[in-house]
Amino acid sequence: MTEIFDTVLSLFSDFADPRKRVFVGYLALSLVIAVAWLIFMRRNSLRRSLGRVFDRRVFWSPSARADYKIYIINRLITLFISPVLLTQLGIATAIYFFLHGQEIFPARAFSGTNTALVVGLFSLTMFLADDLTKYLMHRWMHKWPWLWSIHKVHHSAETLTPVTVYRVHPLEGVIYGFRAALTQGAVIGVFFFVFGDAVDLYTVLGVNALVFAFHVTGSNLRHSHIDIRYWPWLEHILISPCQHQLHHSIAQEHYDKNFGAALAVWDWLFGSLHLSENDRELKFGLLPGDASATNLPDIYLRPFADMYRIFRRRVKKLRGWLTQNAPSN
Ligand SMILES: [Zn+2]
Ligand SMILES: [Zn+2]
Repeated sequence: MTEIFDTVLSLFSDFADPRKRVFVGYLALSLVIAVAWLIFMRRNSLRRSLGRVFDRRVFWSPSARADYKIYIINRLITLFISPVLLTQLGIATAIYFFLHGQEIFPARAFSGTNTALVVGLFSLTMFLADDLTKYLMHRWMHKWPWLWSIHKVHHSAETLTPVTVYRVHPLEGVIYGFRAALTQGAVIGVFFFVFGDAVDLYTVLGVNALVFAFHVTGSNLRHSHIDIRYWPWLEHILISPCQHQLHHSIAQEHYDKNFGAALAVWDWLFGSLHLSENDRELKFGLLPGDASATNLPDIYLRPFADMYRIFRRRVKKLRGWLTQNAPSN
């Protein structure tokens, strides 16, 4: 009995974990930011603002209800899958020993560096490298048909709530898990090789201070109906909630824009930046017939069917090419 209770409790542990975006503390702060935005920027009364934030049509929409079910299913899957995933430590160790094996750059060449500087540099590099590889992975998810068939699940949401961050196909979870392990493992390996034991993270509640800053400033509002915008200059540096909402928009001019996670600089640098627009009503989701927003078997199984279809198309193309270019004798 206690075992079942523990399992149920661990399904919801993300809400008590400051390393997760949906940690209750971050959700509470997001609520404060959303209400303050509606009162001071949109000139609503407190009552109206609260009514707008807790809009039943958003939180109880068929799409949102599907999100809640997906949350439970994905958490259950994660409980079984995560122990077999590639670990950050494994990658870090492999890179560390690989670097030791080369003779160009000596180990611990900068081990005498001021500790505060090393910790600051390490925390910043971890944050930047993680954010950059998230950007690249996300961009590829939209570019490559195989990956898009998986990522489409996230975009099938027709209303956005903080729980929508969990609306991802388990395969996307695995891909992002590998990405995180590779990126963070590489940074850890290189830093320990160059700086020695002084390497550490600046943390708040056990989280990289920069990630913490991202969450306390309303990262949860990216998946919400509160269209908080920043000044245009700031939207070149940080992705505002409205900019991520725009990434979910069905309008053609918003396709392939704002892939960034926390920073907008990657989008700016690689030409995919789109600033938020004044009072623009956005419609979220996919084109009709593209993927279901609510049907769970469709959400979980269609990506496999899509991938099989892409595979068959490729094989057919290859066959056609081979027949055309067959050596004649
Ligand atoms: Zn996307
Ligand atoms: Zn999203």
